[in-house]
Amino acid sequence: MSYSYEAPVSQALFDRASIVTPGGVNSPVRAFRAVGGTPRFMVSGDGPYLTDADGRDYVDLVCSWGPMILGHSRPEVIEAVQAAVARGTSFGTPGEGEVALAEEIVARVAPVEQVRLVSSGTEATMSAIRLARGFTGRAKIVKFAGCYHGHVDALLAAAGSGVATFGLPDTPGVTGAQAGDTVVLPYNDLDAVRAAFAAHPGEIACVITEASPGNMGVVPPRDGFNAGLKALCASNGALYISDEVMTGFRTSKAGWYGIDGVTPDLMTFGKVMGGGFPAAAFGGRADVMAHLAPAGPVYQAGTLSGNPVATAAGLAQLRLLDDAAYAKVDAVSAEIRGLVSDALTKEGVAHRVQTAGNMFSVFFTADEVRDYEDAKRQEAFRFTGFFHSMLADGVYLPPSAFESWFVSTAHDDRAVERVAAALPAAARAAAEARTGS
Ligand code: PLP
Repeated sequence: MSYSYEAPVSQALFDRASIVTPGGVNSPVRAFRAVGGTPRFMVSGDGPYLTDADGRDYVDLVCSWGPMILGHSRPEVIEAVQAAVARGTSFGTPGEGEVALAEEIVARVAPVEQVRLVSSGTEATMSAIRLARGFTGRAKIVKFAGCYHGHVDALLAAAGSGVATFGLPDTPGVTGAQAGDTVVLPYNDLDAVRAAFAAHPGEIACVITEASPGNMGVVPPRDGFNAGLKALCASNGALYISDEVMTGFRTSKAGWYGIDGVTPDLMTFGKVMGGGFPAAAFGGRADVMAHLAPAGPVYQAGTLSGNPVATAAGLAQLRLLDDAAYAKVDAVSAEIRGLVSDALTKEGVAHRVQTAGNMFSVFFTADEVRDYEDAKRQEAFRFTGFFHSMLADGVYLPPSAFESWFVSTAHDDRAVERVAAALPAAARAAAEARTGS
């Protein structure tokens, strides 16, 4: 099936890109491989809308995969960035913006006593794992199937996001040595974690989990799962690392921690805290963070860490994210979830809309999705027609059935009405989809 006729300028750009860039994109999830067709090349964003190179605009339900929680081009953020740029773009020295952003994170998220800024979520999780290993003197790490923590070698085993979208079991290039100390367990299964600790006494440095997974679609932790992880880590001398790159500062002022209140030893952040710029962080217990260079022996560094433009954007965005902002995002999310579910129900399409705070995704199955195996059992083929129908009617969804949808404070009634108007045809396309079509 070809959809390229819909976007001639994007098609021309994609053709150029494909010559100089593998697969034509700089991150696999941006390609439309799972749904077919040509990725839309966007030229601008305004509030809840994106405009592509062909001049068509879309209600954006991806929000840059999470960061744009205030919508696009929010004036206060743009002004903060412009003021920072005017002062210079990188100094390679400490600066006040880094201190202020770190203070904001520490003030919002109680378990974070100290924080180190980095440039991507991948760097944050990679560094947190190294720190956990350095702190405990242990090698093994536990992760869960379907959780994505960036493209860290040791964490790519049974990962979600693009790895799930493309059905990759693992990735070439990760050696046995790099992944050999990674124990992969089914999500939401505390017995499996208990068994892993019993099988590897004194060997497990940490358990890393998405605070509430969004990379196999949205699969929230069962009641008591995160608390159980914390308790098992504590009783076995391992660190509990909560990856809040996606949920952090999105699901509440204090991210998922603000919802479930389970105190991790280390946490990782990215996306929202960068305001659309490359800024991320890891932090937690001061006694653990004290092991990081230059205070301690565990090395970690970055030329652009705490970049003044990125920290200005992140700080401006976080300062606008008050209780009212989260209430607004939660309300828009609930409204769109309801509309999606109604449309699919009307067409008799078996589905579940699963939520974690204001994050949500649609699974084409009648059954609850508790882990990666459940997620893979959905009728993902129904998503292709659904996605393209929405796109044709001006709604931009993640191009995969295994990703969270994101909304923002800028999604107003007009944007929601456009989503509502697009849904009946998309639900029909999902109903009419046949395997392999
Ligand atoms: N951890 C989680 C939970 C994520 O969702 C992601 C990215 O989607 C990452 C880590 C990696 O972040 P980045 O893409 O900034 O490297």
